[in-house]
Amino acid sequence: MATESGPAETEAGGILTIDLAAIVANWRALRARAAPAEGAAVVKADGYGCGIDEVTGALAAAGCCTFFVANLAEARRVRAIAADTTVYVLNGLLPGTAPAYAKESLRPVIGSRAELDEWNAYQVSTGWAGAAALHVDTGMNRLGFALDETADLAASLGAQPGIALVMSHFACAEEEHPLNSRQMARFRKIRALFPQIPGSIANSSGIFLGAEAHHDLVRPGVALYGANPTPGRPNPMRPVVRLDARIVQTRDVATGETVGYGATWTARRPSHIAIISAGYADGLMRAASATDAHAGAEAIVAGQRCPFAGRISMDLIALDVTDVPTSEIRRSDLVTLIGEGIGVDDLAKREGTIGYEVLTSLGRRYRRIYTS
Ligand SMILES: *Cc1c(COP(=O)(O)O)cnc(C)c1O
Repeated sequence: MATESGPAETEAGGILTIDLAAIVANWRALRARAAPAEGAAVVKADGYGCGIDEVTGALAAAGCCTFFVANLAEARRVRAIAADTTVYVLNGLLPGTAPAYAKESLRPVIGSRAELDEWNAYQVSTGWAGAAALHVDTGMNRLGFALDETADLAASLGAQPGIALVMSHFACAEEEHPLNSRQMARFRKIRALFPQIPGSIANSSGIFLGAEAHHDLVRPGVALYGANPTPGRPNPMRPVVRLDARIVQTRDVATGETVGYGATWTARRPSHIAIISAGYADGLMRAASATDAHAGAEAIVAGQRCPFAGRISMDLIALDVTDVPTSEIRRSDLVTLIGEGIGVDDLAKREGTIGYEVLTSLGRRYRRIYTS
């Protein structure tokens, strides 16, 4: 696995640094918190934008045995990197895909009678004895068997070996919400129907709901990548992602002049503006633009926080660097958009979104550097 990819450092508009050692440390910390439950890892969506190959390789080397992905293409990537691990595909069994699961010894997460019947029929006709998980819905109303299907399901499973996990998923684990305890109570009842089968309900935030949520296996995703699984409280995770972008040029802007598309930001003083080479095509969402009425996101320039000035363009962002001594601002210097105290959740807030979307939107044009 390459530890660096993308354009040469001198040619790169932005440099994305991903700390694999921090991902491993976060995984170990989450696993310790949930012990004796097994600590799995969710690496869907290209490892939450951090690179599924690199993340899987690092976690497998650290002893992670179970991975969750969204689809077969992702599952094959994990299988290619981590041959001896268990790989679950969360989005279930698409019609006709059972042979693809068997071929690479992958496990579907089955959430409906139609999927289960198809998996059954495939196993009976081929003798394939690979395992699968059952997904039961406890209140999210997205994927999984409905509660009133579970008794029949349990009765019919007598004849079906190879169900290795019964799982459900929280709808609001990151908040204090009455649905959390309702989902946990429902899941306890469901597990009583399948007493021999290991259970799993906790995502990252679910791990912080206490031992009652841990069961046999926990499935952290976003917290591995440094986002805060306990919003409103200090972030217990180590930061993973650092994003720096290059200054292309600087300019002086007179009072009353505007900056950028739509002329939405007006200089209220003689201003010094730095233009950096990253924009919304790199995943820096336009919603974090600055207008005269509304502050946008910030970047760190020579150790100082500087506000965005005007709209985020496709490939460029303007920063108000008036308060930074001009001697400290040079063409091609790097400024920090994520890192040095700006977390993925901070940027997310300015973009009106969540850390998950910041991570999964991380651009493909950066030079990527993996540290471990
Ligand atoms: C994405 C996902 C996870 C991981 O959730 P995080 O909040 O990122 O920790 C766990 N379980 C299921 C079913 C998921 O879809």
